[in-house]
Amino acid sequence: MQNKLQFQHRFTAQLPADPVLNNTPRQVFQACYSWVQPKTTAAPKLLIFSAEVATLLDLTPEDCQSTLFTDVFSGNALLTGMQPYAMCYGGHQFGHWAGQLGDGRAINLGEIKNNEGDFWTLQLKGAGETPYSRTADGLAVLRSSVREFLCSEAMFHLGVLTTRALSLCTTGDAVWRDMFYDGHAANEHGAVVCRVAPSFLRFGNFEIFSARNDLETLKQLVDYTIQTHFTHLVSDVMTDATYLRWFTEICDLTKTMIVHWQRVGFVHGVMNTDNMSILGLTIDYGPYGWLEDYDPDWTPNTTDAEHHRYAFGNQAHISHWNLMKLAQAIAPLFEDVSALQQVLDDYATAYKSAWQNMMSTKLGLNSCPEILVAQLFDNLQLCETDMTIFFRSLSNIKQHQSAQTSLNTVADAFYSLPLTQETQGQWLAWFAMYTQQLQHEGSDDNARKKSMDLINPKYVLRNYLAQIAIDKAEQDDFSMLHELLDVLRFPYAEQPEKQTFANKRPEWARKRAGCSMLSCSS
Ligand code: AMP
Ligand code: MG
Repeated sequence: MQNKLQFQHRFTAQLPADPVLNNTPRQVFQACYSWVQPKTTAAPKLLIFSAEVATLLDLTPEDCQSTLFTDVFSGNALLTGMQPYAMCYGGHQFGHWAGQLGDGRAINLGEIKNNEGDFWTLQLKGAGETPYSRTADGLAVLRSSVREFLCSEAMFHLGVLTTRALSLCTTGDAVWRDMFYDGHAANEHGAVVCRVAPSFLRFGNFEIFSARNDLETLKQLVDYTIQTHFTHLVSDVMTDATYLRWFTEICDLTKTMIVHWQRVGFVHGVMNTDNMSILGLTIDYGPYGWLEDYDPDWTPNTTDAEHHRYAFGNQAHISHWNLMKLAQAIAPLFEDVSALQQVLDDYATAYKSAWQNMMSTKLGLNSCPEILVAQLFDNLQLCETDMTIFFRSLSNIKQHQSAQTSLNTVADAFYSLPLTQETQGQWLAWFAMYTQQLQHEGSDDNARKKSMDLINPKYVLRNYLAQIAIDKAEQDDFSMLHELLDVLRFPYAEQPEKQTFANKRPEWARKRAGCSMLSCSS
């Protein structure tokens, strides 16, 4: 393994380091990162690894099963060439500037260049304190680490841009957590996930220097980011035009990411600007959730229960707000900010058009009358309707069948049957409109089913499934963890023997902690 992983040091070699080497929580100025060391643990144990991510690093399953692998990816050993560091960033949390945050429990081990020539940064989450840990311990618990591991990989296989997860280890150390911030703290199992991404830079990495009026470091970081991760934009001299093209691409990547979230029914839960990747990757899997019954106002995050700022239906709006904060942060680099403002102003229109295109494909249509979509989303809320099952079933509709037959085709998506007369009437009207549109387009039933089944997943990481995997893992049974990873590797395939994972949420999970409500405690 040592020979296969060749470390590069682009981030740390090209950007200013914090000269102070102690790990006490403190403000770090004029530096993009601090040197840190992962914490050694009592009894590291590998629970699971992702073979696909290992391949990205040119590692074989045998490499991943070695003792060295467990030692390295639980924070107990460093390979030659690893130079661990924690990044300095700030962020807007729930709409308010929070000052310096930073990698409080994430430790970057280094960046490798694989045989294909691609660069990947390896990062341990939960490997101990850094100068950015503030009042917390730098650790992570098993339940949140299972959630991060499974969801990163599930999202990747769904075709959503995301950070990846290489491995999940338990540490053998106990971690003290008050899961619901209600005075019932208890010891939990400590765990470490190794995350992998081309870069873990967030909007907040840029905001911190702007907020401190440290424009020199801001420019250094922006130039580095463009030269390293947006190489096609590099010009001899960095001008307003270069920065503008860069910001335009970030808007585009962010837009694409959010459209995918809306497509698969993913609610991030904490879209603070420190949780927004500069590469448009889904990052920081905390109190996220998956829509079961379609409800745009739903958020799984109990910290957001009052305002629903990060609810499913608000994610596009929040992404725009976050981009505005990023634009404000980089504005000092521009001589004239009017073009930057224009790109920002265009975001809502660009998003709407991308979302409409996505909805058309989700419905198997070439073009989609607005009324059809508007009516659909009204209907989905008339009675509890499972979003995933509904869209998956829709591909079975034949354009010449009756509205009643169509309704029967999707009936499995409804949480309670029979529907009221009124609801049934609304659905029949909608199906009549839908099949009429299919006929109008001269749609081919078979071809449409094929293409719809490639974008409407059958399997998503249902909240209660993740919770069962966690409950079992806490009892030392990792079978469900492995089984879920396997199923979620092929979310668009039928996998008849795994049908139970595609079923509706059972009634017991409706209000159970971890299944429908999560706190930020992790
Ligand atoms: P999050 O809500 O997970 O995105 O984290 C927000 C900030 O809190 C980031 O700076 C994290 O690094 C930090 N943080 C979260 N949990 C911990 C922890 N257990 N120890 C240290 N820092 C943490
Ligand atoms: Mg975060």
